[in-house]
Amino acid sequence: MKSAVFIDRDGVLNRMVFDETHGILDSPRRRGQVEAVPGAGAFLREIRAAGNFVVVVTNQPGIAKGTLKIASLNSVNKELARQLAVDGGQWDELRFCPHHPGPCPGGNPIFVKTCACRKPASGLLLDAARDFDIDLATSWMIGDGLVDVAAGRRAGCRTILLTALKWSMAERFLDCAGGEPDFVCRNLAEALKLIRDGETPARQRES
Ligand SMILES: [Mg+2]
Ligand SMILES: [Zn+2]
Repeated sequence: MKSAVFIDRDGVLNRMVFDETHGILDSPRRRGQVEAVPGAGAFLREIRAAGNFVVVVTNQPGIAKGTLKIASLNSVNKELARQLAVDGGQWDELRFCPHHPGPCPGGNPIFVKTCACRKPASGLLLDAARDFDIDLATSWMIGDGLVDVAAGRRAGCRTILLTALKWSMAERFLDCAGGEPDFVCRNLAEALKLIRDGETPARQRES
């Protein structure tokens, strides 16, 4: 069995995009909106060099909502892979959840449903673990959302919440959510040191 690093896509490998129509940060929906997070390619390169299998796990409810076509999702993923490869980074597998529990007016009814793969559910991780003979107990889940942490916990992985929040703020945020990651890292460089070298992140203190 192998160890994996499961990793969220939006906000972790690529930057979020400001959607002017709705005034929110959203996933990139077309190739031109894709901007890899600095350091993400190097992180994937190093984490794979250390012997980890990398699985991107991402919720893409735009498919259910009818705001994102599968072809566009593939095009975004392809562009992200191209940018990460500039620094020698790649993933081994990418799994996405196309569902949304609804209601999704004008959406695609095939994908509007309660599923077992939309994070915080753990279906994406469990399915990949089965398909690739992954040992979940020695694997990690990294994400910038509490749904990522919850999915990782449910799958039995160690979990890392990525956040640039000061530690006192992060603690408050975590208290509200009731979801406890095993570790909080400021960025992927810290996550790499933790996973590869066992170096516990220095938590930020209020200055
Ligand atoms: Mg995210
Ligand atoms: Zn799903």
